[in-house]
Amino acid sequence: MTKIAVFPGSFDPVTLGHINIIERALPLFDQIIIGIGHNSTKSGFFSLEQRVNWLQEIFLHEKKVQIHAYEGLTIDFCRHNHAQFLLRGLRSTADYNYELAIAQTNKSLAPEIETYFLMSDPAHAHINSSIVREVYKNGGDISSMVPQIVISGN
Ligand code: ADP
Repeated sequence: MTKIAVFPGSFDPVTLGHINIIERALPLFDQIIIGIGHNSTKSGFFSLEQRVNWLQEIFLHEKKVQIHAYEGLTIDFCRHNHAQFLLRGLRSTADYNYELAIAQTNKSLAPEIETYFLMSDPAHAHINSSIVREVYKNGGDISSMVPQIVISGN
């Protein structure tokens, strides 16, 4: 069986915390699809195109990783891609409480899809895309929280 996992998120922007989770999940799965969830009526802070491009550049040489944008339910995106696993990261008990409800809802909607959690590594546990956006908007230094490509803006 080819083990396919979807790692869903907004990635607005991608952070070192996201990258760490993906790299640590690589040995667990044959394929990881990074799903950039979006809503066509509500744009993110960084454009969808920009978010897709950053992730494609970062994982250019990693054959196991694919990047796709999607709208709608994450379980429908998983089914469409024949993914049996959902991958999520946990930073804190706040994440746990939120993620538990989502994972249990997904389990009741799609019993065949299993959610796997990886704990954030301590060096990245404080990194949060919405805080990164606030620091960035106010001219602060985000270089310890995001990959270089986000800073150079390419
Ligand atoms: P969402 O909008 O679904 O919260 P995010 O892009 O913020 O999407 O996060 C996607 C996934 O990555 C979530 O499972 C989130 O908990 C995880 N994640 C985000 N930041 C970190 C981090 N610093 N360390 C570990 N996991 C993280």
